[in-house]
Amino acid sequence: MGSEFPTTRMRRLRYNATLREMLAEVRLSRHDLIAPLFVREGAGVQHEIATMPGQFQLSVDTAMETVRRWDGKGVPAVLLFGIPDAKDAVGSEAWNDDAAVQRLCRQIKAELPNVLVITDVCLCEYTEHGHCGTLTDRLDGCKDVDNDITLESLGKTAVSHARSGADIVAPSAMMDGQVGAIRSALDSAGFSPVAILSYAVKFASSMYGPFRDAAESAPTFGDRRTYQMDYRSPSQAIAEARADLDEGADMLMVKPGATYLDLIAAVKRSFDAPLAAYHVSGEYSAIKAAARLGWLDERSAAIEITSAMRRAGADLVITYFAEQLADWLRE
Ligand SMILES: [Zn+2]
Repeated sequence: MGSEFPTTRMRRLRYNATLREMLAEVRLSRHDLIAPLFVREGAGVQHEIATMPGQFQLSVDTAMETVRRWDGKGVPAVLLFGIPDAKDAVGSEAWNDDAAVQRLCRQIKAELPNVLVITDVCLCEYTEHGHCGTLTDRLDGCKDVDNDITLESLGKTAVSHARSGADIVAPSAMMDGQVGAIRSALDSAGFSPVAILSYAVKFASSMYGPFRDAAESAPTFGDRRTYQMDYRSPSQAIAEARADLDEGADMLMVKPGATYLDLIAAVKRSFDAPLAAYHVSGEYSAIKAAARLGWLDERSAAIEITSAMRRAGADLVITYFAEQLADWLRE
């Protein structure tokens, strides 16, 4: 037969470093990276997030310095999250054309037009209760996010971001119909070229803990399990992705990324659309913490895990390691 040991020795493909390099099927590139950025009101703000070492809340001026540095290192895209000074019941600062995200969009596009600007479209950073939309009383007396009223707020937010120069809007509220509502709001306002990167497959996850410190968006009561997906129900992922594509999503996302590789692979197998994976805050901070303790090598772990998301089928990786990866990949 010739297909068994000792005729076959798989190690022959691994003896030589040059051959290993030639046979690598997955190559992480700086071109695949999207760097999240938290921007708030004020000036000169550079507040390190305690649970996310190396990540900062920035004001527009310090954010611009950061984006210039990232651009210099070849990070091609940013994903912007805003933190307002004033929150209210509906999150109206989200669609204020003069809020920090919108001002930063305008400055980036004016100064660094080659940097791709993606904006997160959600309301949890902007509502006083920390939920992703306007609340309503359910039949059982519990408070919950009103899906259809929230769609209108998401549409207004996306249009405000597009008006400020965002290239891509990324709705993350997990409201049913949000992609369709945003597509029609953008088109009616004359922004048909603005693309939608849908957080199509977004699970309610413990891995978001550090992000809530970063974005000051922790819910004041309850959790997000009536809108974000249940991690025990993977078959809903395909239905969510299909619904978003049918509504006009140009690109899809799976979030979290590193702990949901099975779903990255499943979505990529099922659909042709470009796919992003979000290497989320908890996945980032776990590597940082283990590295600080000397339990993991930070660089090797970060490259391996982001490469695993690419191997699973993600075309793009949203990661807090973007700047470090750009440095490491250049070496
Ligand atoms: Zn949200």
